[in-house]
Amino acid sequence: MRLKEMLPYQIHEAIAKNVPLLIPAGCVECHGNHLGVGVDTIIVEELCCAIAERLPAVIAPTIDYGPTGWAVSGPEEGTMDVNGNHFYLFVKDVLLSFLLMGWQRIFVIIHHQGMDGPEALAFRKAAAELAFELTRQKKGLGWWGFQSPETHGNVWTRIRVMPSVLPEVSEICRGDHAGYFETSLMLYLRPEAVDLSQLQKSTFWYADQPNSPAKNANREDGEIFFKAMVESWVKFLQS
Ligand SMILES: [Zn+2]
Repeated sequence: MRLKEMLPYQIHEAIAKNVPLLIPAGCVECHGNHLGVGVDTIIVEELCCAIAERLPAVIAPTIDYGPTGWAVSGPEEGTMDVNGNHFYLFVKDVLLSFLLMGWQRIFVIIHHQGMDGPEALAFRKAAAELAFELTRQKKGLGWWGFQSPETHGNVWTRIRVMPSVLPEVSEICRGDHAGYFETSLMLYLRPEAVDLSQLQKSTFWYADQPNSPAKNANREDGEIFFKAMVESWVKFLQS
């Protein structure tokens, strides 16, 4: 289910049943000449949809305009950037709203730049601060030191910031930027946002790495990659 389409009573029911809330997070960033600039967002959105088809899960509105640091291009190639500190303040407010709403299992899913990139770091910092601040508000100073851990409840894991490709499938899904892996995924998920003939322009080295060239991409492998990602997420959420 999508949060945007849910009525208040349905939200109450989902929270009471401890249904996970999936937050897709992405960015607008050049992915070579041959892919749409929303690749990293599209992949996490499709992943969330596929997970929600397999088990009860609520999909939050996407947080799309993430920091890119202008790492792969300037704005002339379609990349956008937001200041990481501004982004952190914004996502902290968003996450706080979800916590106040009552969600107990919140998963921010990121495909862009890994867990140490500015986007993931902003979410991780916001999540960690909220865990401390809200618990201190509720329980007072010294709550951790004076009370046994069993009394704290779900403090540290209410919000988890995680990669789209879980470690269990990293051997199958070897990440790249607009190379064989991402291009195959896009050929499977959103072929209308792929034009392999544009590879002739060969402006960007990353699309033509010897071990992962975009020109070898194909829909069949994209399906294998995507299904492995979905399967590992479903297993993880069921465990
Ligand atoms: Zn990407």
